[in-house]
Formats: sequence, C-alpha cells, structure tokens
Amino acid sequence: MSALPPIEPLDVHNRELIGNVHPANWRNPQPSGRYNLVVIGAGSAGLISSAIAAGLGARVALVERHYLGGDCLNVGCVPSKAVIRASRLVAEARRAEREIGLALAPGALPDFGAAMARMRRVRARISAEDAAVRYRAELGVDVYLGDARFVDGDTLEVGDAKLRFRKAVIATGARASALPIEGLAEAGYLTNETIFNLTERPRRLGVIGAGPIGCELAQAFRRLGCEVVVLHADSHVLPREDADAAAIVEARFREEGIRLVARARIERISRRGEERVVHFTAPEQGDGEVVVDRILVAVGRAPNVEGLDLDRVGIEHDAQRGVHVNDYLQTTNPRIFAAGDICMDWKFTHAADAAAKIVVQNALFLRTQKLSSLVMPWCTYTDPEIAHVGMYERDARSAGIEIDTYQVPLHLVNRAVTDGEDEGFAKVHVQKGSDRIVGGTIVGAHAGELISQLTQAIANRVGLSGIGNTIHPYPTQAEVLKRAAGLYTRSRLSPRLARWLGRYMSWRR
Ligand SMILES: Cc1cc2nc3c(=O)[nH]c(=O)nc-3n(C[C@H](O)[C@H](O)[C@H](O)COP(=O)(O)OP(=O)(O)OC[C@H]3O[C@@H](n4cnc5c(N)ncnc54)[C@H](O)[C@@H]3O)c2cc1C
Repeated sequence: MSALPPIEPLDVHNRELIGNVHPANWRNPQPSGRYNLVVIGAGSAGLISSAIAAGLGARVALVERHYLGGDCLNVGCVPSKAVIRASRLVAEARRAEREIGLALAPGALPDFGAAMARMRRVRARISAEDAAVRYRAELGVDVYLGDARFVDGDTLEVGDAKLRFRKAVIATGARASALPIEGLAEAGYLTNETIFNLTERPRRLGVIGAGPIGCELAQAFRRLGCEVVVLHADSHVLPREDADAAAIVEARFREEGIRLVARARIERISRRGEERVVHFTAPEQGDGEVVVDRILVAVGRAPNVEGLDLDRVGIEHDAQRGVHVNDYLQTTNPRIFAAGDICMDWKFTHAADAAAKIVVQNALFLRTQKLSSLVMPWCTYTDPEIAHVGMYERDARSAGIEIDTYQVPLHLVNRAVTDGEDEGFAKVHVQKGSDRIVGGTIVGAHAGELISQLTQAIANRVGLSGIGNTIHPYPTQAEVLKRAAGLYTRSRLSPRLARWLGRYMSWRR
C-alpha cells in the first residue's frame, strides 16, 4: 500500500480521526462473487456513490488507499473552515476592541496551538460520518484499504484481492500540483496536505497563489497572528471571480496587513538557516525578495490518474484534465464512470456529491442524468465571502445572451448595517427584458449562505420577481436579494405606465 500521508500530531483528536478513517486493525473483506459497483477513492464522490448505491440494494465495494473522507474531511474543507472560524473569532474580538471597548492586552495574540487543536477536535468529530466501520456496519459497503488498479475490463486489484464488477466509478480526486520553481523542493514547503499539521505559529508565512485556497488560508493565518505575504501571478486576487467582488476582498486583505505581490514571477527560492527567501520579479515592485519562515504553495490541483492502469482498460486521461468523461460522466470505457475532482472542472465537495448521484443513476439504471443539467454554486470563504452561481457577465457576453444586472450594496440592507457587515453587494443577472435569472454574485460576510436562494431560483425556474414576492423575515441579510428584485420591478415601470399611474392616483385623491 502506498505510504500514508502523515497526520500530526498524534494527539487524542488525530487518533480518533485515524481510528475512523484508516483504522490500524482494519481487515479487508474477502471478495466473493461480482459487485454491482466498485468505487475507487473514498472522498466526497466515492463515499456518496457507494452509500447511495448500497442504499438501493447494490453490492458495493469501496477502495481507499489513504484516509476515508478524502481531501474534504482530512486536508480541505473541514480543517480550513475550522481554522477560518477561529480566525473570525479573532477578527470579531479586534472589532469588539475597536467598537465597544473590549479590553484586550496590548499586542494580544491568539493561542495558535489552541486554534489548531480546536480544528483537530472538530475534524475528528465530523470524521465519525465517514468512518470505515460505519460504511461497513451501517451502510453495508465492503470497504477495502489499499491501492486499487484495473486488471481488466471487469476486475480491479487491491493488494491480493481481485474485485469483479459490473460497473466501476473512479473517484480518486486530485492533489496539490508540484511547482517547477528552482530551489522550492530543497527549501521545503507546505501544501494543504501538510499545513493543518502545524502546531506552532509561523511568524512569517509566504503564500504562493491567490486562488480560493491561497486567499482563504492567507487571511486565516494573518488573523491568527502570522505576517503574511501573498505572491501571485495575476493582477488581482481571485482572478476567476467577478472583478468588483474580488476588489472588495483585496482591499480587506490590505487593511488587515496582508502584503500582496501581484503579477509576481518567482525566480527561485533559497534557504538561509531556518528562513526561506523567495526571489521574485514583479512589474509594480521590480526585483525583490521576501524572507519568510514557511511557504504555503496553493497553486493548482493535479488529478490522481497514476497507478490505476487506466490504459489497460481503454480509459482516456491526461495529467491536466484527469479522466475524460462525457456528459453522463462515463469514461471512454462505457462500464466505467468517474466523478469528482478526477474529472470535473468544478472542484468542490458539493459538486462531487452531485456528480456521485448522477453516476449511480447512470451506472446502475438508465443513462439519463447529465452533468450539464446541474446548477452549480460555489463560495470562497474569505471575509467577506464571495459566492457565485450561474453566469458571470463575461459568460453571458460570450454566449451572446443580453442581460440586465441588478446590484444592491449591503449598506442598504438594515441587518448588514446593524451587524457591521455592510461591505459587499449582491449582483443578479437576468435575461434582458425578463426576470429569468441567469447568474449572480454575492459578496458579504454570509454570502455562502445567501447564494442558495439564487441557486434554488435558477434550478427551479423561479424568476427574480418570485424572490421579490417571497416574504423575508426582517431584518435579515437575505433581504439584499429581495431588494434586487425590487429594482427589477421598478425597471418594469415604463414611463408611460408611470404617467398613467400618476393620473390614476390623482383621480383617486
Ligand atoms: C484547502 C482546501 C479547501 C477546500 N475547501 C472547500 C470548500 O470549502 N468547499 C468545497 O466545496 N470544496 C472545497 N475544497 C475542494 C474539495 O475538497 C474537493 O472538491 C473534494 O474533496 C473532491 O472530492 P473527490 O471525492 O473528488 O476527491 P478526494 O476528496 O480527493 O478523494 C479522492 C480519494 O481517492 C483516493 N485515491 C486516489 N487514488 C487511489 C487509488 N489508486 N486507490 C485507492 N484510493 C485512491 C485518495 O486517497 C482520496 O482519499 C477544498 C479543497 C482544499 C484542498
């Protein structure tokens, strides 16, 4: 079996985690007969596919080489959101100091070790849901720990065991890509796979990359007391997001003391004792170097295609896109499907979850479900958060769809003002001349919670006026979308209708 990535420290929380997701005394079952479905990889996509298929009465085998729960539980969403929560507590305390005179000791810093211990405790608690024992005993899934590889079109090998299958799902996910920067490997660096093992605060943290992972962790670690510098290749952080939205996050980063080096080209990295020196060039800052204690590489994800013997079973794949699939998530071998980060551009847990449902339907029943039919929201959990669903303005332009955009700043929403969370906006795009929502972006402290209302509306073909007609409790930040609907309604009031209404009202006075 491939070596297990280290989960450290081996305290009570991490022992509980490992006991759930890779129990030391685990015995693989003895395969007998053919499985309806064999699933490779027990991350979000694999866990959901196997649980649903087993719930429908299928004989299911689930193979995991490292830890059940995959990236999301162990080194992704769960630990990052727990660290972000700790960092938001600190930001709130600092605000309380500024706004209501909470007395903090001068230069008070949070206990970094305690924040990380809290993260480990939370992660261990959540891991019970993904436990190997639960999958075997409660859900009836045969769980195999080990590396899977295809032997032929209907057999998979895990150690000495041969698993025969009718259908298979590849859900092997992705990992942090290696960066070809001179001296990086020698200097040593962290990725999402190792940063959550930290127990001591790095005084200075260099973050390479300003995508969602880089931005979320840069802000969290800054708030937990690190000096943070982010070096990134684009002119702005979160370059894929709505530019107005990303500008708000970028301004907040600067306010909070994060140094941003835009359009940076990293020439090399060298080691000076315990310090790492990042040598870069950047148009705005010329040649320069930053000295840090630790480096976090947060650029790009590489699909886990190696070691599966995909060529042997006729599955097309490559090192960038991963496994090639059609809209039914079927690989070039029609008996074998794929789901999640291994094959999709949407690299999110909820996308892997939705894809797993498609795969179970298409693999075990009629092939009817398409990936392209999904309405996919996403959120970057910086503070403020940026959440998005559907089209950006640029997508509509390139698809030749004319749109009207209704934008409401959060400072017009009373609850955002009472809560001091009035930085941000909601932007809703509708097809020109109609209330059909084609996309939207929300920036705000709770944008991730608010985006579901837009997603639900798009998925169920509820127009913007439908949101406007829905009663929202007062005061809530969700009213921002009701206000956007109000703008739409007012836009329908043509000058002629307005004149007519004016005359009618004066007649009624
Ligand atoms: C720091 C970070 C934060 C994130 N935050 C969020 C977030 O807030 N919200 C969100 O929606 N998404 C988030 N994501 C993305 C999310 O974690 C992934 O999209 C999701 O985990 C993908 O699930 P998956 O099942 O496709 O793959 P994975 O979770 O990667 O699981 C694949 C599994 O397959 C196993 N495997 C690989 N090869 C083999 C083999 N040959 N044999 C057996 N097993 C194998 C691996 O060990 C792994 O356990 C985050 C990611 C990171 C890195």
